Amino acid sequence: MTSVPILTLNNGLEIPQLGFGVFQVEDALTTDAVRTALESGYRSIDTAAVYGNEAGVGRALATSGVPREEVFLTTKLWNDDQGYDATLTAFDTSLAKLGTDYVDLYLIHWPTPARDRYPDTWRAMEKLLADGRTRAIGVSNFQPAHLERLLEQSGVVPSVNQVELHPYLQQAPLRAVHAGHGIATEAWSPLAQGALLQDPALDAIARRHGRTPAQVVLRWHLHLGNIVIPKSVTPARIRQNIDVFDFALTAEDIEAITALERGERTGPDPDTLN
Ligand code: NDP
Repeated sequence: MTSVPILTLNNGLEIPQLGFGVFQVEDALTTDAVRTALESGYRSIDTAAVYGNEAGVGRALATSGVPREEVFLTTKLWNDDQGYDATLTAFDTSLAKLGTDYVDLYLIHWPTPARDRYPDTWRAMEKLLADGRTRAIGVSNFQPAHLERLLEQSGVVPSVNQVELHPYLQQAPLRAVHAGHGIATEAWSPLAQGALLQDPALDAIARRHGRTPAQVVLRWHLHLGNIVIPKSVTPARIRQNIDVFDFALTAEDIEAITALERGERTGPDPDTLN
């Protein structure tokens, strides 16, 4: 079976560097997709309350035959549930849907700065961590200013910031902030939802290695040190996306991919999404 590298988060918890995302997968289809991912060797699953498929993930975990403790499970707190008490309630709801009594990583999904609740929300996350109900806590879509505000308030540094990141949006300044604070960078939409798979530069690299553009992009993420969570509902692609550990990009390949930066988001801007 393919061997996925393991990274150690800032609180000592280990996470597979490559996992499986289930955004925009209907609950009914999620169970099969996650089961296929587990059969293919994935041991990290990324869902969120707002995806509406935590129950589907839970069914896959319960029936896959893979012990719960071998799977790194991430879910996220939705924006409407920010605030101290609401966070604790939303966490219980997520656990019930997932059919488990802990998660490995709980994330604040978006900072929603105009609501100004993420500092209170973080205090609730700290409580969930202290109570052992989640093994690590982190954030998603936080910009440097949002991170700085949490760091001023709290001794608990987020273990992860999960952000949009792919060759068209490489997030070099944010990755430098993360490195300075020991926060792991996790890439969402690592394939830009498929938008960059037609890129001629990626196609040329893929041909040279006898690989697909998706595999080249995932290899690039791993080279940068990102945690990466590609999504697919197509079994052959699910297998393809984890079959990336037996080739390496050259320095020229990395340089060519670095040159693709365009500052182009496929998703919302975290400073204005509220
Ligand atoms: P991805 O960048 O992972 O791209 C998924 C798309 O690419 C799907 O259309 C899929 O098609 C296609 N695809 C996947 N693998 C291949 C392949 N090998 N060849 C060709 N096409 C392929 O997009 P996501 O937005 O889903 O991001 C990944 C995960 O990140 C999400 O599922 C979610 O867990 C997380 N996320 C988090 C966000 C946040 O705010 N924190 C926001 C968005 C995502 P198909 O499924 O039809 O095979």
